[in-house]
Amino acid sequence: MKVLVINCGSSSLKYQLIDSETEAVMAKGLCERIGIDGRLTHKPAGKDKYESTDAMPNHTVAVSMVLAALTDADHGVIASLDEIGAVGHRVVHGGEKFASSVIIDEEVIANIEACNDLAPLHNPANLIGIRACQELMPGVPMVAVFDTAFHQTMPEKAYLYGLPYEYYEKYSVRRYGFHGTSHSYVSKRAAEILGKDIKDLKIIVCHLGNGSSICAVDGGKSVDTSMGLTPLEGVPMGTRSGVIDPAIMEFIAQKENLTISEVMNVLNKKSGVQGISGVSSDFRDLTAGAEAGNARCAAAQQVFAYSVAKYIGAYAAAMNGVDVVVFTAGVGENDNVMRTRICQYLGYLGITLDEEKNAQAKGVETIITTEDSARLVLAIPTNEELAIARETVALI
Ligand code: ADP
Repeated sequence: MKVLVINCGSSSLKYQLIDSETEAVMAKGLCERIGIDGRLTHKPAGKDKYESTDAMPNHTVAVSMVLAALTDADHGVIASLDEIGAVGHRVVHGGEKFASSVIIDEEVIANIEACNDLAPLHNPANLIGIRACQELMPGVPMVAVFDTAFHQTMPEKAYLYGLPYEYYEKYSVRRYGFHGTSHSYVSKRAAEILGKDIKDLKIIVCHLGNGSSICAVDGGKSVDTSMGLTPLEGVPMGTRSGVIDPAIMEFIAQKENLTISEVMNVLNKKSGVQGISGVSSDFRDLTAGAEAGNARCAAAQQVFAYSVAKYIGAYAAAMNGVDVVVFTAGVGENDNVMRTRICQYLGYLGITLDEEKNAQAKGVETIITTEDSARLVLAIPTNEELAIARETVALI
């Protein structure tokens, strides 16, 4: 079956068409600047890239352009839309309502809408994508795959904040966690690569990208994770602060004469390694800056590595042990120097990196520890789209 995977943002839409039998990506692409002007970049496997700047006034037009690109005589990869057997939608927030993926119907849509409050930037955009696909592909089964679902196995002690309990009861304020599709996929891959039953493993997954989160996976289940009610909590990220003393908010609001939402904007968009370095949110730029002698780029790298290492320590404690540490996503998959920097804190776990294997592990599945390392460290490329396609096929 051919599965269209859709990841819809407020002004963008990423897609992949995946053949579920071979798991090959037939085409992938990106719609940008939806509602502004519009740009489509379509990459069909084995054919030349196709670009269009035709107007994209809304998401329905964007989806119709994607479908036209997929079926085009020149740059298309299928003869007709009838070949698309299902659509898998990434949905960011499923609240406590969704502990697994679901086939989309009107009740599911209403329940996703009910979570809009918890992810006001993401869920409404995800819903627009779902509606646009329903309009243009009536009758094609669609599945919602949630970033939060994998973490619904967290125990109460991990998800409750030290806040008045009625905020949890009235407003559902608790830890949810994100990147669940990635943490689930990567932890399963780790067990497969090692030839072990995931039920017997304590795994810590470090999803380190522009947004980063760490997850404790005990016996295949998420038992704790660093992101919280929103994706702002956890380690300092590209532009997000991660955990800070909550008192800083009022302090900065007064000093800089900012409103709460202006401070939130700083914490989401101007903090993290971007804020510390003053140079970039991109870890490659930090490396270049640090090599050129920029002390703030070097400090940003150090703060990031130290923070990730502290979460690894915390989750080893939470699970009363750890067998495997996995690095994934843009930084985790590619940045061997950052992996080394983080693993330097893990000597107490008996972890020793094989620097040669570590240096070679760029976007390929690799065990990067030495033969005599007490615990294993792996670099595994994540593949959220494939995971969504698999979930979609499994459900329908
Ligand atoms: P997102 O959270 O947007 O999905 P990604 O997982 O794609 O992010 O990760 C993006 C980050 O990965 C960028 O900050 C980039 O610096 C980093 N990155 C990508 N490739 C490399 C590389 N070869 N070396 C170091 N960092 C890299």
